[in-house]
Amino acid sequence: MAVRADLFESPDHYQLDELLSEEHLMVRTAVRDYVKKEISPIIEDYAQRAEFPQQIVKQLGDLGVFGPTVPVEYGGGGLDYISYGIMMQELERGDSGVRSTASVQGSLVMFPIYAYGSEAQKKKYLPKLASGEYLGCFGLTEPDHGSNPSGMLTNIKDAGDHVILNGSKMWISNAPFADIAVVWAKNEEGKIQGVIVERGMEGFTTPTTHGKWSLRASATGELVFDNVKVPKENILPNVIGLKGPLGCLSKARYGIAWGALGAAMDCYDTALRYSKERIQFDKPIGAFQLQQKKLAEMVTEITKAQLMVWRLGVLMNEGRATPAQISMAKRNSCEIATNIARSARQILGGMGITGEYSVMRHMMNLESVITYEGTHDIHLLITGMEITGFNAFK
Ligand SMILES: Cc1cc2nc3c(=O)[nH]c(=O)nc-3n(C[C@H](O)[C@H](O)[C@H](O)COP(=O)(O)OP(=O)(O)OC[C@H]3O[C@@H](n4cnc5c(N)ncnc54)[C@H](O)[C@@H]3O)c2cc1C
Repeated sequence: MAVRADLFESPDHYQLDELLSEEHLMVRTAVRDYVKKEISPIIEDYAQRAEFPQQIVKQLGDLGVFGPTVPVEYGGGGLDYISYGIMMQELERGDSGVRSTASVQGSLVMFPIYAYGSEAQKKKYLPKLASGEYLGCFGLTEPDHGSNPSGMLTNIKDAGDHVILNGSKMWISNAPFADIAVVWAKNEEGKIQGVIVERGMEGFTTPTTHGKWSLRASATGELVFDNVKVPKENILPNVIGLKGPLGCLSKARYGIAWGALGAAMDCYDTALRYSKERIQFDKPIGAFQLQQKKLAEMVTEITKAQLMVWRLGVLMNEGRATPAQISMAKRNSCEIATNIARSARQILGGMGITGEYSVMRHMMNLESVITYEGTHDIHLLITGMEITGFNAFK
């Protein structure tokens, strides 16, 4: 299939680049160049075939986007949260599935090992995950427990020097190719604990989930545990309870807030360029008021969201960002991105439904992004609870 050259230029209507450091701009250039060279030319093909481009795992490791905030001594980048956000924005500008691979590896696998793991676990896994030698996945969601993970049935039972793990997880990004899985399970007291499960452990399988119309270039699967013997040294020793997985989700949701904005920026940029080139009724369609309304509203929403994620990044760097603030930004970026993708698709007319342009792929991807790591409704309820003091979940 013919795919258009990637001519992306980022909108910066409020001179927000002035808020970024030299380091941030260098990070952005490096990831943007990588996406233009290695992702844009191939991703539509992989998405059409619903195939995960496995070669990107090593490439992303070399690029330094796995665990950029993890200290250098464990193989991470030692960078700040704005650099991390910019990386996610640029990767998702290419494809939400590529960003998902990096988010899961960095925020949902490396972060819990770094924050809750033993020194031996950190030394054993983090450098290999950072370099892309290992791919990881994160198992929280179950067939009957999505928005309400506290009801999970997956469990561990004490058996001397190891535990026996039983249960199943579904909708797990990276699962079919993962070397290790950070899995959340209930112990015999009903308390949630994290365990590191390695591919090859007897009774552990990862069937692929087929038939997705979204995130088609990202591999999704189940994690099935049938009396898996997991050595006790693989239990994350420094966290107990739902705050373990929720702590990881806060980091990943922060990355999604920047990432979804990247997809929105790509859709806007594509639609703007098309509106200047496509002639109807002897004029570029961008000269018609109806198309200008769409484009003007897109850039306004993008600018508002850029300010929001930048400020959230500053709060993250200062260790002051709250889960409710992260929820609001994740929800806002997903909402504006899905709306912008739909508007952009309409500006492209019939061409908007083909894979020649990235817009419809983004539009379909964003249906997953607005659903995973807490649905749109759940993030609204988090904001509602924060401002009213009333819990409307139950
Ligand atoms: C492509 C993809 C990749 C994913 N990757 C991972 C992964 O790597 N690891 C992982 O653990 N999970 C992953 N997930 C799972 C994802 O996090 C869940 O799908 C999500 O949390 C929602 O759970 P659910 O699908 O069971 O929906 P449900 O919880 O069944 O929700 C269905 C609907 O009910 C609404 N709802 C639920 N509770 C309430 C309430 N209290 N009040 C009002 N409305 C409510 C929801 O908003 C939603 O609209 C992934 C999902 C997808 C689609």
